[in-house]
Amino acid sequence: MRDAAPQTIYLKDYTPTPYDVAHVALDFTLHPTATRVQSRIAFTRVRAEDLVLNGEDLILKSLRVDGAEVSHEVSETHLTIPAAHLSGAFTLEVEVEISPQTNTALEGLYMSGGMYCTQCEAEGFRKITYMYDRPDVMAPYEVTINADTPVQLSNGNPTAPGCWTDPHPKPTYLFALVAGDLVATTDHFTTMEGREVTLNVYVRPGDEGKTDYAMDALKRSMKWDEDVYGRPYDLDVFNIVAVDDFNMGAMENKGLNIFNSKYVLASPETATDTDYAMIEGIVAHEYFHNWTGNRITCRDWFQLCLKEGLTVYRDQQFSADMRSAPVQRIKDVLQLRARQFREDAGPLAHPVRPEAFVEINNFYTATVYEKGAEVIGMLRTLVGPAAYDAALTLYFDRHDGQACTIEDWIQVFEDSTGRDLSQFKRWYAQAGTPHLTVTDDFKNGEYTLHLKQKTKPSAGQPDKAPQVIPIAMGLIGADGTEVLPTQVVEMSEAELTLRFELDAKPIPSLLRGFSAPVILETEQSEADRLVLLAHDTDPFNRWEASTLLAKSNLMANLTAGSAPATAWLDALTKVITDDTLDPAFRALVLALPSEDNLANACDAAGIVPDPTAIHTARKAVHLAIAQHMGEALPALIAATETPGPYSPAANDAAKRSLRAQLLRLQTRLDGGTMARTAYDAATNMTDQLAAFGCLLSAGDTKVAAAFEAQWRTDRLVMDKWFAMSVAEADPDDTVAVATALTQHADFDWKNPNRFRSVIAGMTAMNPAGFHHPSGAGYRFLADWLLKLDALNPQTTARMSTAFETWRRYDVDRQALIQEQLARIAAHPGLSRDTAEMVGRMRDA
Ligand SMILES: [Zn+2]
Repeated sequence: MRDAAPQTIYLKDYTPTPYDVAHVALDFTLHPTATRVQSRIAFTRVRAEDLVLNGEDLILKSLRVDGAEVSHEVSETHLTIPAAHLSGAFTLEVEVEISPQTNTALEGLYMSGGMYCTQCEAEGFRKITYMYDRPDVMAPYEVTINADTPVQLSNGNPTAPGCWTDPHPKPTYLFALVAGDLVATTDHFTTMEGREVTLNVYVRPGDEGKTDYAMDALKRSMKWDEDVYGRPYDLDVFNIVAVDDFNMGAMENKGLNIFNSKYVLASPETATDTDYAMIEGIVAHEYFHNWTGNRITCRDWFQLCLKEGLTVYRDQQFSADMRSAPVQRIKDVLQLRARQFREDAGPLAHPVRPEAFVEINNFYTATVYEKGAEVIGMLRTLVGPAAYDAALTLYFDRHDGQACTIEDWIQVFEDSTGRDLSQFKRWYAQAGTPHLTVTDDFKNGEYTLHLKQKTKPSAGQPDKAPQVIPIAMGLIGADGTEVLPTQVVEMSEAELTLRFELDAKPIPSLLRGFSAPVILETEQSEADRLVLLAHDTDPFNRWEASTLLAKSNLMANLTAGSAPATAWLDALTKVITDDTLDPAFRALVLALPSEDNLANACDAAGIVPDPTAIHTARKAVHLAIAQHMGEALPALIAATETPGPYSPAANDAAKRSLRAQLLRLQTRLDGGTMARTAYDAATNMTDQLAAFGCLLSAGDTKVAAAFEAQWRTDRLVMDKWFAMSVAEADPDDTVAVATALTQHADFDWKNPNRFRSVIAGMTAMNPAGFHHPSGAGYRFLADWLLKLDALNPQTTARMSTAFETWRRYDVDRQALIQEQLARIAAHPGLSRDTAEMVGRMRDA
């Protein structure tokens, strides 16, 4: 279905196009299998070369240059018009036919539940018509949509029914079109410049009662971007559309954001607090792209982190401002470690700015997004908040309307601060997570901290140079009092020694707020960690101490069968029962490290992880915590009630998150008695789902059917049902449970959300089941990847990363995984996306 020999594309080969584009006019006549697209594109010649435009899966109907037919060549991927026919300024008129209904890859123009929609990032526009499908070619657009649907939308401002004009030059990847039977919730926003903006959230009829929160989040995002970054909105209309079949979370198309319906639709009965927080964060993220991504875009896809790292950083700042900043930071770091550190440690490690790719869709990764955001955060820590603000203002002034590079971005900071950031740029170029090893000593009133940094070799990068690491640190006395408040130390060499004059040896509190994305290795004792858990003034490091204590107790159980230390259980109980602490923080302290996290900890300690043993150890330690808290649990659970109508706001959500953790513990003791009561009494999805998980884990055989009967007609709630059913299955039964679910009448495997709910329900949420020694989990995943690949390469390639940690495991598991990877690689007609990912995982 594609060109036979996929090519590697290199950053160093970047060349501007030989023709500029001044204007794009598109006329669509929509039909499920025979949509006609007429384009009129105004070009200007820059260099006397052939005009080579991208285009795939298009049937060319006619082609004219300034009204005249000219000779041209069409291949599976390109249209070429010889330079001889082209000079000065000219208009290319092309008519093509495309088939949205048979476009199962969900890139370009496709259909979802009877409605037309598009996804053009990164390279979907080439499936709509012939064009320079690359981000550095920007032009204003005029779009006409002929369709018998009630609603027709595109970018920009509406000028007549079905007609849209976008005056802001944009690249093809930000083009969007939607047509279908949709209903809108409408609201208004007046910008700081006095512009009256109409806001619409479009959904399928029947879903209009679930848009309030997305609209509220949008208005708060618009206000926040004005208040914090001074960025107003720039069109008269801002539209959001919810689509059921969507590969990604959401897409920032200019003035017409298209969302996976999972990140728009919410009601207290059907969405959890986590869903609400995700909606808030993603609505903000896509909105913020209007300035960081759309007005200033990327020169080429190697610069993806320029828009994504910065926009993730901005949405994290927003969520921190809307909710609890420390809790937000802990959650961001949990994500970073779970996804990005994992990626950085394996065969798929790559720099924040990669230098080569085969399929760009494979680089929408945690490294580009999450580590990209960490790099911005470090930059802000190094230059300080005021200098950061000044640099951003310069960035917007200097580069508005341009397609930029990381060099442009760094230059702005160098120009506005006078600082040399050439070493800092290594964060964009070097893959792998630096290890920061710290030893300390106290002698004759002098406390010495000795720090060493080292980054392990990764594919194509055998030797790593030292990074600039901002280390926010403080010192705590043995009695818990702070003897040195937070200060930021800059480490730029391989080693650094710090000296302090003190009366007694303190306990260092390093990397406060997780000031750099590194792995900290210290010789800290359990006793010191207990002091930090009880007294550190930095909430992140308080939580970090609890996580490290939990990890060492879990590892002791895993390797020696040891019971958890009483001192840790006492300290944990003290934090959990401390009413002065944010319940969301307490919930995070109570959450044990994940099974994948423990597998990584084993690997780091030179122990081959056994997923079954990890699962068992985690259960044993969880039970020990429950037994230690014992009779206190019911009272604690009662204290976390949130009476009155449901509110998704942070305070109530925090209580519910603690309640869910406590109910998990209680279920270990009573087998689900209290969870059953909570399930029956639940009036919102957060409480219901928490109790549902407890009951499933306790082996309740009836609750799954009851939940299903209640929610059968709700697509998004049923995704949760599918996922939880696999996630909570006993490891020995997981593959059987997952297989049965794939035979369920509602398992629509072509829908990415539903596919992910079962497949990732196993690979991500039930590692002991996935890594079952029989290898059945590996076969199950490979079978489904091969099936989906023929239809949707993008989602297939992404889901294949479940195999990326294969080197951690024992030789038997390694062989079983290798067998499946080889089977996938050998599959005839495998997509370029999946072939690249599987190849990278096998090569390493
Ligand atoms: Zn984004």
